Amino acid sequence: MSGPDVAIIGAGPAGLIAAEKLAGAGHNVAIYERMTSPARKFLLAGRGGLNLTHSEPTDALLDRYGEARTWLEPAIHAFPPQALRDWADGLGAESFIGSSGRVFPRAMKASPLLRAWLARLDGLGVTLQASRLWTGWDENGALRFALRDGGEEIVKPRATLLALGGASWPRLGSDGSWVELLQQKGIAIAPLRPANAGFAVAWSPVMRERFAGQPLKRIALSFAGQRVMGEAMIDAGGIEGGAIYALSGPLREAIERDGEATLAIDLRPDLTEPDLANRLAKRRPGETLSNHLRKAAGLSPVAAAVLRETASGPLPAAPEALAQLIKTARLRLTGMASLTRAISTAGGVPAEEIDQDFMLKRLPGTFIAGEMLDWEAPTGGYLLQGSFATGVVAAEGIGKFLSDAHHAQA
Ligand SMILES: Cc1cc2nc3c(=O)[nH]c(=O)nc-3n(C[C@H](O)[C@H](O)[C@H](O)COP(=O)(O)OP(=O)(O)OC[C@H]3O[C@@H](n4cnc5c(N)ncnc54)[C@H](O)[C@@H]3O)c2cc1C
Repeated sequence: MSGPDVAIIGAGPAGLIAAEKLAGAGHNVAIYERMTSPARKFLLAGRGGLNLTHSEPTDALLDRYGEARTWLEPAIHAFPPQALRDWADGLGAESFIGSSGRVFPRAMKASPLLRAWLARLDGLGVTLQASRLWTGWDENGALRFALRDGGEEIVKPRATLLALGGASWPRLGSDGSWVELLQQKGIAIAPLRPANAGFAVAWSPVMRERFAGQPLKRIALSFAGQRVMGEAMIDAGGIEGGAIYALSGPLREAIERDGEATLAIDLRPDLTEPDLANRLAKRRPGETLSNHLRKAAGLSPVAAAVLRETASGPLPAAPEALAQLIKTARLRLTGMASLTRAISTAGGVPAEEIDQDFMLKRLPGTFIAGEMLDWEAPTGGYLLQGSFATGVVAAEGIGKFLSDAHHAQA
């Protein structure tokens, strides 16, 4: 049995950036990945343009990590958005800031960046061992990998980084099977739950059949004191999309607690209620309500359909009451989409189980990075930003650990 200095398990962005930093510092690094090729989820993220990070001021960016801000902050400072942009630029994937403040590579995809990245890792001497499913530790503390031919590989590195991702989109490789392996070592794991996922709504058959797949554009959603501008998408079983994802944490908690949550939708956030009422007061004789809502209030057919769904009876005729409803339509959410369909995962290895270098307190020499850690954030580039930053800091921690171990031996 032999092993590299450092075994990195999981070839997603957290594992790959850690490999780059460690190999760049002269360490002998091997990456182990269960799939036949690396970074499947990163490539999928590329289909949506690959939102690498966000350009907003650091303080606002840090707030997106909610309660995890306190312990993630040093990592984000160690590898801030500009460092991530410089890194992408250095791999030929020059980035730009979109109108929403989100940062993307100009190519709006992940494959050229990943190709250049893997070539750089190869040049640094990193070996990538694909089709290796990590199944835990043997009785000597060595890592066990199941091979596709039924065989097993045992590896004893000096330090290990677990960068196994969350449990959304399991067919891409990350399925949360590590939870049990860590629990067996006495490590507490916050339950894995969906983040940035859609919610169930009991739409009428008309809504399901006529409006599934249609976007609600330029709306504002409010829940639990938070207001988010953006878009949402109607689907047959409910509602999803960026603005919904941004509230998915508090909505999920309310549904877990109360069995349902009521979301307030402002279908015309650019108009005040009195302005809207004024416009609605001018209804031409004989005009249908649908036409009136389209022309006077500027509601798309799908927005008008949502308005009807959320009204507890026929729509009111009085302009003031109609304007109020348009500004505060109330939609009842009865459940959350499953983790397998979520963009990301909440829960994971909690801050209490790791030290400031992301090393497991109960397993010295084993470090954690990326979405395995117990943090969540909305879409907008914060997920990759958090995964990269924790990968970088874990790599620095591993470097220190190896050098301390070396000095202790000398
Ligand atoms: C559709 C979609 C779009 C997204 N778009 C964006 C976006 O635009 N911007 C953004 O910031 N974020 C986006 N994300 C989220 C982002 O991709 C993830 O947060 C990020 O990939 C997490 O990185 P990671 O390295 O922690 O884990 P992962 O990328 O999940 O990588 C973990 C790796 O570990 C491997 N692995 C797991 N278990 C084992 C095991 N037992 N043995 C061996 N290997 C194992 C997996 O196969 C995988 O390759 C998107 C996610 C999805 C699903």
